[in-house]
Amino acid sequence: MDRQQQFVLRTLEERDIKFVRLWFTDVLGFLKAVAIAPAEMESAFDEGIGFDGSSIEGFARVTESDMVAHPDPTTFQVIPLEDGRPSDMARMFCDIKMPDGTPSWHDPRHVLRRVLSKASDMGFSCYTHPEMEFYLLRDDPAQSLEQPRPVDQGGYFDLPTHASAHDFRRRAVTALEAMGISVEFSHHEVGPGQQEIDLRFADALTTADNIMTFRHLMKEVALEEDVYATFMPKPFTQHPGSGMHTHLSLFEGDRNAFHDPTDELSLSKTARHFIAGILKHARELTAVTNQFVNSYKRLYAGEGEGELQEAPAWVAWGHANRSALIRVPQYSPGKSSSTRIEVRSPDPACNPYLALAVLIGAGLKGIEEEYQLPPGAEEDVSLLSQAERRAMGFLDLPHNLMEALRYMEDSELVADVLGEHVFDYFLRNKRSEWIGYRAQVTPFEIESYLGVL
Ligand code: GLN
Ligand code: MG
Ligand code: MG
Ligand code: MG
Repeated sequence: MDRQQQFVLRTLEERDIKFVRLWFTDVLGFLKAVAIAPAEMESAFDEGIGFDGSSIEGFARVTESDMVAHPDPTTFQVIPLEDGRPSDMARMFCDIKMPDGTPSWHDPRHVLRRVLSKASDMGFSCYTHPEMEFYLLRDDPAQSLEQPRPVDQGGYFDLPTHASAHDFRRRAVTALEAMGISVEFSHHEVGPGQQEIDLRFADALTTADNIMTFRHLMKEVALEEDVYATFMPKPFTQHPGSGMHTHLSLFEGDRNAFHDPTDELSLSKTARHFIAGILKHARELTAVTNQFVNSYKRLYAGEGEGELQEAPAWVAWGHANRSALIRVPQYSPGKSSSTRIEVRSPDPACNPYLALAVLIGAGLKGIEEEYQLPPGAEEDVSLLSQAERRAMGFLDLPHNLMEALRYMEDSELVADVLGEHVFDYFLRNKRSEWIGYRAQVTPFEIESYLGVL
């Protein structure tokens, strides 16, 4: 029993915890949980908790279904009550292993761990923070599938006074802090009812765990406020989608390996190779960062009804350019610790372990192979003509899920990062999603064709 495990056992007793929830994530990014009594905790640490992997999306075939969840004591948190006080429940994230004790190749947490250990072999630790966007709706989609109604008509940085979710962000931030997740920033986003909450930076594995916790907590807090939170990438045709801008930097010990004070953008060679890696593999990894049919309705940088959509649609980078796939924020350029890149394509419905794994994997590849960074985009890429974009080498991101899957299929990098099992399962699952979608006759077609053809 190590010190962290002992700390958990002591805390269970001191806090009089009645249930411990063990959390893990399936291949598509859905949270799974099993609750155990505190008396079982010691043996859960020693032997893990067995479960039937074949019932979990993407985990195993029926013939090799025994799997074991091993709780990670460093992720222990007491779950807060509605008012932020501690409850008698706690949770831990698990690593999934096979009965022989080897890590499961189906476990997204393991996929990310593998990439991070590669980073560590190269001398790097990886820090990241996400900007989480989502919509608050009036109705629970399980009750009513009518056109979704946002909770307010607010816009960017507005402080709506009439909103039924008046207190939502305050309660949300309190709940997050009570689970050990620090919030840097929260505000109303551009769309009506759209919220943004930016988490403080952490190591990449903690960030992925935090995103899982975040989605779960936001849905719970919303229900307590009698509203509904959705991370669907594009719930409204006429309003901007919800993104998950992902900030990344590599550190060598205490030193930010992305920072170079002599460079005009304060970017080191390492940072430039890393950006080049993501750009070069951007089309191949988009299926993972944007995994649903609906994700591609967002990745389109045109204008809605007076509202800027501001989602990337082309493979380009720039320093202040919000139409670019990768941006180098310049808020405090002199400060070495804050030099980082912002990848703007991921959406908040991704599997955060897999999304971070492919982004970091592509960046590391860029460093290993010393990929050269192409020139940045000085102007808004969406205002250029298609011919100009082509001349400047700004390729289109995939326009739909099927196109994204085709790029992914041929990607050695993505296969390597995800491992064969997750790679194959993901492609199979997503192809069948596309087939289901492809067969649908949509309102767009009825409106455009029925009367005129
Ligand atoms: N909602 C936009 C997106 O889909 C981002 C808006 C912003 O934060 N600038 O990515
Ligand atoms: Mg933001
Ligand atoms: Mg935003
Ligand atoms: Mg941003």
